[in-house]
Amino acid sequence: MGMPEIIAIDGPAGSGKSTIGKLLAEYLDYLYFDTGVMYRAVTLAAINQGIDIENELRVSSLAQNVKIDLQTPTIKDGRNCDILMDGQDVTWDIRSPEVDAKVSIVSAYPKVRQALSEKQRQIGLQGKVVMMGRDIGTVVLPEADLKIYLDASLEERAGRRYHERILRGEDADYDSLLAMLRERDRIDSTREFAPLKPADDSIVIDTDGLNIQQVFATILELTEKHHVK
Ligand code: C5P
Repeated sequence: MGMPEIIAIDGPAGSGKSTIGKLLAEYLDYLYFDTGVMYRAVTLAAINQGIDIENELRVSSLAQNVKIDLQTPTIKDGRNCDILMDGQDVTWDIRSPEVDAKVSIVSAYPKVRQALSEKQRQIGLQGKVVMMGRDIGTVVLPEADLKIYLDASLEERAGRRYHERILRGEDADYDSLLAMLRERDRIDSTREFAPLKPADDSIVIDTDGLNIQQVFATILELTEKHHVK
């Protein structure tokens, strides 16, 4: 018996996956791996290189060739980790409204998913990892020892994104954040390959009205109870 070695946390944007995953990984001294940053990096690379996001062939080939690395933060500016794209720090660039608006189109392409999921799986199978995404429990690591699906209403999630942006000193508009999240949810949950949905054996937590400490306490309890046989 021991602690779960592979922990999958899935859920829609703004459900708190990244924050909770970071706390849990730090607590357990596990690797923190937010897979959304990979889809975001490919999207940013396409934008930077002037590639039409609708050009599935070119975007897919980009996903196969771009080098994405996650490493321990080297700057204390609220980041959970450094994201490097072909060696360049793109930690905040991948969070731009333009990337937000385009990432779900990129992540619906099967070859993009294949390229990125393979890398994620290799890393996940090494164990002692908390991996966040949309399809970790269903596709990337179906053998995960503990699968959590974090959910929250659209309004709550838009509110969280709004406050995050304001705290970072950026401009934010609640209504446009709500519309962007609604559209991403729609594309992410209706795509043919690896749509956003809880795995049959995942534990679903509705985080509406709960703060980070409350969600973290619930997950910690689950982790400690969930001993692997
Ligand atoms: O988690 P985050 O909001 O950063 O993810 C950005 C986008 O990347 C999601 O809206 C989704 O389209 C895509 N994604 C995915 N599968 C994952 C992680 C993210 O399709 N495992």
